[in-house]
Amino acid sequence: MGVGRSALLWASKNNFLKNHATQWKFIRGAVKKFMPGETVEKAIEAAKVLAAKSIPSTFTHLGENITNLEEAKLVVNHYLSVLEKIYNEKLDIEISLKLTQLGFDISYDDTLNNFRRIASKASGNGNSVWIDMEDSSYVDKTIKFYKEIKKEFNNVGLCLQSYLYRTEKDLSELIQIKPWIRLVKGAYKESSEIAFPDKKDVDTNYFNLSLKMLETLKENDVRMVFGTHDLDLINKVTEAGARLNIEMEKIEFHLLYGIKTNEQDRLSRSRSKIRVLISYGEYWYPWYVRRLAERPANVFFVLRNIFS
Ligand SMILES: Cc1cc2nc3c(=O)[nH]c(=O)nc-3n(C[C@H](O)[C@H](O)[C@H](O)COP(=O)(O)OP(=O)(O)OC[C@H]3O[C@@H](n4cnc5c(N)ncnc54)[C@H](O)[C@@H]3O)c2cc1C
Repeated sequence: MGVGRSALLWASKNNFLKNHATQWKFIRGAVKKFMPGETVEKAIEAAKVLAAKSIPSTFTHLGENITNLEEAKLVVNHYLSVLEKIYNEKLDIEISLKLTQLGFDISYDDTLNNFRRIASKASGNGNSVWIDMEDSSYVDKTIKFYKEIKKEFNNVGLCLQSYLYRTEKDLSELIQIKPWIRLVKGAYKESSEIAFPDKKDVDTNYFNLSLKMLETLKENDVRMVFGTHDLDLINKVTEAGARLNIEMEKIEFHLLYGIKTNEQDRLSRSRSKIRVLISYGEYWYPWYVRRLAERPANVFFVLRNIFS
């Protein structure tokens, strides 16, 4: 892992910076590249602009590691009202959330109940919910949670990360329960004991896992999503899908708002499916710094805002 990426991932967890940097005007300006605003109304405006280009969205209300269950209730109520709004306005917007936003650090059972309320509302509205994958300390627990919730709901998907050595085994096991999977490379600081330290190995693993996902997609009624902006991987997955005679309409690419927008437009005109994840909310600091770490060149964009 490069020094720049490592330093940024350290900064993403730093409390002093979390409390102060969010007030700095040049940072607030720079964050707009990745986030249309702090309110759900701003996110809906952005989703409508994308929808006009036939690009559906996924919403994430930013937040993680909440420290009391009252906060979790507010998060649940927020998502319930957003699902209602999406349904009433007939928008194609799914939900993606972090379990630590629903109380995972405090109580597994309360998190299950909180999640059930959201998944049940989404299911009634014909909508879907994705579970983000957080750092490696949560992977066992999150997979256990997904397996449990999958018995009750068919409209829930799970994110897996190709930088972890364990993901190949996790994917093979999950395939038995016909999961919905969103594969990403992984955004946290992890040690080389559990994660590939070299980017090229993360990419190779991503492609190997993609092949397994495509084979599963061919045989089962599942959703297999490729969450990446890596054009080389997008092309390779598309080609592999064609070789396996998979209908292109079944192959989904999910990208983040504001990243590789030309590619988003291109994919919207192709036969593959595309969806763009829009994040919003006041609690954007750790999430934003992880975006900077993915491409340390983004820091220059922040610096440019100081002078503009
Ligand atoms: C839909 C979606 C959901 C995600 N959910 C999770 C999750 O639940 N858990 C998790 O750990 N991670 C998640 N991530 C983040 C993911 O793990 C990666 O950190 C991120 O997607 C960057 O990796 P990449 O696949 O785009 O490949 P990279 O090799 O990092 O990037 C490929 C190219 O895309 C562009 N690019 C990538 N990131 C940026 C950026 N921040 N700014 C500007 N350009 C950029 C650059 O041109 C880069 O060369 C998610 C990503 C997506 C797209």
